[in-house]
This record gives sequence, structure tokens and C-alpha cells, in this order.
Amino acid sequence: MLQYLTLPVTPFQQNCSIVWCDQTLDAAVIDPGGELPRLLAAVAQRGLALKAIWLTHAHIDHAGGTGQLAREQGLPIVGPHPGDQFWIDGLAQQSRMFGFPPAETFTPDRWLDDGDTVQIGHETLTVRHCPGHTPGHVVFHSAAAQRAFVGDVLFAGSIGRTDFPGGNHQQLLDAIRTRLWPMGDDTVFIPGHGPEGTLGRERRTNPYVAERG
Ligand SMILES: [Zn+2]
Ligand SMILES: [Zn+2]
Repeated sequence: MLQYLTLPVTPFQQNCSIVWCDQTLDAAVIDPGGELPRLLAAVAQRGLALKAIWLTHAHIDHAGGTGQLAREQGLPIVGPHPGDQFWIDGLAQQSRMFGFPPAETFTPDRWLDDGDTVQIGHETLTVRHCPGHTPGHVVFHSAAAQRAFVGDVLFAGSIGRTDFPGGNHQQLLDAIRTRLWPMGDDTVFIPGHGPEGTLGRERRTNPYVAERG
């Protein structure tokens, strides 16, 4: 079964998740925005073998530690969708703008698209492309574990900002409705910031995307 642990990192308290297969102890880190020593300590403490970096999107608080982590640990970078190339190109500028330590740039070893799958140990997660917050935003869904790692697409009681370059409010709403809701009401989503919740609760009560009956 898929296991995970979420560590808020960076001044933006970005939820970096470490996910692993409990049979092989192979692990992937989703959105290593920073605080790499803390992330590596959590990996070591559990006896996990880090095998890959998975990215939901290329904002600095999610991707800022990626280049350094990949280089130091020899890890492949998987994701996001190519629509976020301009955010990767702009990482240095994002670092300066938000007062982050200088981020190393990187080139993903594998870009992702809607319907792709990623694997860690014996666990397979499905990739859904959810543009709107950024053009290349993806989410990772484990149907078996009923978990979705959704980055800045959906939050408990809110949705991602769409006022950045390349943002699109309608696209974001459409992505949530057509790509997240079908995962099922009982699916627990792990957002990029703030507490977890169920998709069912958001579908009923989220002021931005609730279905009105
Ligand atoms: Zn973001
Ligand atoms: Zn974020």
C-alpha cells in the first residue's frame, strides 16, 4: 500500500509529501520546495530509499529544492507538464522575488501529461493535467489508497490563485470538476498548503466549486 508523510517547508509552508511503497520502501518526494536536510532526515529515519522527484508545478515553493536535490542524490525529475517550462526558466527570478535561497535550475527527465502513470515500488499513481493555477500543473492520484496529491489546484475551502502569468480561472474550475471530482467523494486530497480534506466535502461546500443542488 502507498504510505506518505507531509512536511510543510519554506516560508510558504508548502506541503512537501514523501510517498513510499511499504513493501519495497522505495520513495518519491513530491514538490521539494526547500529545507532539503529536513526532507532527507525524514527519509532516512524511516529507512526509505529515495528514487525520484515528482513535481506538480514549478512555482518556487514547490520546485525550489529540485535542482539541488536531484544533483546531490542522483534522482530523476518527473513532471510537471511542459506548460510550466517558463516557470522553470524563471526560477532564479522567483527566488529573488520571494526572498528564497537561489534555486538551481533543472531539466525534467520526464515531462508528464494527462493519463500518464508514475510508479514507486509496487504502487502506481495516475497523472491528471489540471491547468489553471499554472498551465503545466499536474496532480498524482492513487486510486488504491484513495489519495490525491493536488498541489495548488484545490485547498480545503479554497482553490489555487489564477492571477499569475499563465493562470486561468475557468480552466482551473473545469479541471477540478472534470479531473478531481471523478476520483470520488471519499478520496482524501493533500493540498499544497493547509490541511487535507475529502473531495466530497469540497464538492459540497467549497465556495468556488461546490455543486449547487
Ligand atoms: Zn503554486
Ligand atoms: Zn504553492
